[in-house]
Amino acid sequence: MHRILGLVAVSLLALGACSSPVPETDAVLYEGARLIVGDGSAAIENAAFVVENGHFLEVGAVGEIEAPSGAPRVDLTGMTVMPTIIDTHVHTNTEREALIADLRGRPYWGVSAVMSLGRDAEESAIEIRNNDIPGAARFRTAGVGITGPEPGRTEIPYWVTTEEEARQAVREQAARGVDIIKIWVDNRGGTVEKLPLELGAAVIDEAHKVDQRVTAHIFDLADAKALLSADIDSFAHGIRDTDVDDEIIALFKERPDFVLVPNLPGRGVPTDLSWLSAALSAEEMERLQASNVENPGSQAAFAIQARNLARVNDEGVTIALGSDGNSAWAPHVEMEDMAISGMTPAEVIVAATKNGAEFLRLDDVGTIETGKRADFIVLEANPLEDITNTRKIDAVYLAGRQVDRGE
Ligand SMILES: [Zn+2]
Repeated sequence: MHRILGLVAVSLLALGACSSPVPETDAVLYEGARLIVGDGSAAIENAAFVVENGHFLEVGAVGEIEAPSGAPRVDLTGMTVMPTIIDTHVHTNTEREALIADLRGRPYWGVSAVMSLGRDAEESAIEIRNNDIPGAARFRTAGVGITGPEPGRTEIPYWVTTEEEARQAVREQAARGVDIIKIWVDNRGGTVEKLPLELGAAVIDEAHKVDQRVTAHIFDLADAKALLSADIDSFAHGIRDTDVDDEIIALFKERPDFVLVPNLPGRGVPTDLSWLSAALSAEEMERLQASNVENPGSQAAFAIQARNLARVNDEGVTIALGSDGNSAWAPHVEMEDMAISGMTPAEVIVAATKNGAEFLRLDDVGTIETGKRADFIVLEANPLEDITNTRKIDAVYLAGRQVDRGE
C-alpha cells in the first residue's frame, strides 16, 4: 500500500516542481509504523518521521510532529521500522570488483555497513573504505591481520615471530588508515602454533600508541583472559572451549569500552530455510539444505557459546553483531542465534544496529533519531515479538532512498 502512496508522492513532487522551479524541500513524511529506535527504548507505536536531504528531520508519534507543508505522506500502517543492520565481522572478496559486488548485495537484506577482518591487502580496499558507494553497504576494514606462521592456511596475513615484526605490522596497517588491527590467537585444533601471547600484547601496545584498536579471533578462555589483561579492545568470537568464569567477567567489567562480537556457530539443528528461497539460486539452496541436518557436535559447541553469551550479556558487556564469512543474509541467522542464546529481541537489535555503528565509529547511523542518516528497514512483522521477523523485509532505505530489491 505505501508503495502506491509513494508513487503518488513522487508525482506530487514533480507537479510541485513545475509551479516553483526550485523545490524548497524533498521532505517525505512516513506515518503509522511501529518504530524501533535501536537504542533499546520502547518502540513508538503509530510513529511518524520526516526524512529530508537523506536524514531524519523529526521522529516521534503521529500527531506529535509536523512535516514541512506539501511533504508527501507514506502510509506504513501495520509495518515495523528498524535501523539498518551493521555486520562487524565479515570476510568479503578482496578483488575490487568482487568486493563492490559484495557491498551492493548487502542492502537487499537490510545491511548497511560491514567490517572485513584481516585479508584486505589490496589498496582498492582502502579506497572503497574511504569512498562510500551510493546504494551499497559502507565498508570498513582491518586491512591485513596478524598471526603466527600458519602453514597451509591463507598467506595474506602477517606471519610474525618476533615482537619487532609484530609492532612493524601494526605500524604498516595503521599507516594505511585501517579501522582496527586484527590478530588470530588459535592453534587451529592443534595444527599450528598459535600467536604467542607476548606478541599479542606487543600488537595491542603498539596499536594503542598509534590510536588503533585491536580485535582478536580467539578460541580459549585462558587466551581471552590474557588478552583482556593486555588491554585488548574487542573479540571477534565468543569464548569457545569452556564456560566463562567470574575472573573473566571481572576483566570484562574493568574495560567498559570493550566490545564482544559473539559470532555464534551453527546450532546443529535443521531449520526452515524457505525465507531464503526467493533470493538464492536453486544450487545455493541445495547446498544449504545439504548441511541443514542434525549435528550433535555442533549442538554441543553451540551450547557452550550460547551459555557464555547469555552470561556476558547479563553482566552488561557491550555486544555487537558479526556473522563471519561473506553471506549478505547471515546476520538474520546470527540474530536468531543470539536470541536463542538468551538475549531479548530488543537487545539483539541494539547489538545489530547501535552497538555495531558505535564500534565501527559510524556516528551518523545506528539509531532512528533526528539528525541521523535515514537508513532504515520496513518490516512486515514485529521483530520484538519474534526476532526472525527481521527477515520479513518490505523495503530498505539508505540515506532516504529506497533500495531496489528487485535485482
Ligand atoms: Zn572471521
